[in-house]
Amino acid sequence: MPEYTLFLGCIIPARFPFMEKSTRLVLSRLGCVLHDLPGATCCPTKSIVKPLGDMAWYVTAARNLALAEKAGHDLLIPCNGCYSTLKSVEVELRVNPLLREQVNNILSSADLEYKGTIEVKHLVEVLHDEIGIPKIKQHIIKPFDGMKIAAHAGCHMLRPSSSIFFDDPNKPKKFDALIEALGAKSIEYETKMLCCGGNLNAADEPDEATALARMKLLEVTKKADAISLTCPSCFMQYDSRQYLMQKSGEKLHVPVLYYPELVGLAMGFTPDELGMDMHRIDAAEFLSKWDSRYKYLKTLKEVFDLPSIRKCYECGACVNDCPVVKITPEFNPNEIIGRLLSGELEAVIDSHNIWRCVDCYTCYELCPQKMGMNKVFDKLKQLALEKGKGPKGFAASIEMFRKEGRLGEPTSVRKKLKLPEPPKSGGEELKKLLLIVKGEENEV
Ligand code: SF4
Ligand code: SF4
Ligand code: SF4
Repeated sequence: MPEYTLFLGCIIPARFPFMEKSTRLVLSRLGCVLHDLPGATCCPTKSIVKPLGDMAWYVTAARNLALAEKAGHDLLIPCNGCYSTLKSVEVELRVNPLLREQVNNILSSADLEYKGTIEVKHLVEVLHDEIGIPKIKQHIIKPFDGMKIAAHAGCHMLRPSSSIFFDDPNKPKKFDALIEALGAKSIEYETKMLCCGGNLNAADEPDEATALARMKLLEVTKKADAISLTCPSCFMQYDSRQYLMQKSGEKLHVPVLYYPELVGLAMGFTPDELGMDMHRIDAAEFLSKWDSRYKYLKTLKEVFDLPSIRKCYECGACVNDCPVVKITPEFNPNEIIGRLLSGELEAVIDSHNIWRCVDCYTCYELCPQKMGMNKVFDKLKQLALEKGKGPKGFAASIEMFRKEGRLGEPTSVRKKLKLPEPPKSGGEELKKLLLIVKGEENEV
């Protein structure tokens, strides 16, 4: 069982205990043992403590590191700010022996020494690199399929790259991968790497802090169902500040989810267990959309081979070469997949387009995923028939097949051509068999 010392910093326990709750619940479900760190202080927060002087900054951080070293496990940090501070100091003390000696001289009066035997790790780093996506997926019982999440990594999860190396500081991938491990789509968006602006509050510039938060929220509200992050300061900007913006009339409504909350929900913990009622921006709409998407996709899964449908990457081959598209441009086989996945099963079944596929297999042969659309259309036609829908000619043919077991009766023209009497139809026997099939289907 992996063991870590949990470093929560100041803001999580003081203002957002629900972040601690979800972190503990999720990590324990994933089999991690978390140890507390008695005697820990502020990490220290760069924007507030660094101006007191470099040595005060190093000693405060090194004291926390030395305490963790005594406890004997790597530090796991679920807060960007604390992570960036402690990781920077950890690396600086490793590469600068003179600085380490000066710091240790001061620490010795508290009977402490920092040797560099443990590592500082971000929650995202631990989840992605150590616990791993396959293990997280094993614990997902209610995925976020079809939900769009805007990942806000936040500057201090990734920077400065002189001491933080676990992901690219400008084009990170790991946090997005963790969001997608839960079934959600981590969207690309222009302001993705924009700082939340939280530190401008410490400079007494709340309007400027609001302006930066607004830029991202305005884009996210149009493109995603929620924003996810791992930083209490960023959370304050996007949740608490958004609340103030809403109070003064701005209609943004972007639910802000701390990443372990998202994992916890997908693992089956309830919003109450996760303490989500402590958010200023209500996530109820997000939760209800997720619930109905989940139920819809469950129904869809019973009818279609969803993993195969999801393999479509919209290359367009099935549209460009479909013979029906050439004469009926409003028929778009590929668009139907998107509509099915986005919740429009009923509307698709009702549309005349599903009857247009002539079952030529062109799309199947050209599809790089060997999916093609025939099977999808077959299923859609079946569902439509069950609802009593379908073109008149088709309904007449089905009726004849049900009655006679074939789609046409031999006529007297055969005699004119001196053809022999046709063999008798086995329609009656087939009818009985089809009744058994129908009975079995109804039992399922
Ligand atoms: S986005 Fe803002 S609060 Fe979050 S880590 Fe960056 S500067 Fe800090
Ligand atoms: S099988 Fe249907 S959808 Fe595919 S190319 Fe032929 S007509 Fe078009
Ligand atoms: S050819 Fe296959 S992968 Fe390409 S758009 Fe059509 S179904 Fe999707």
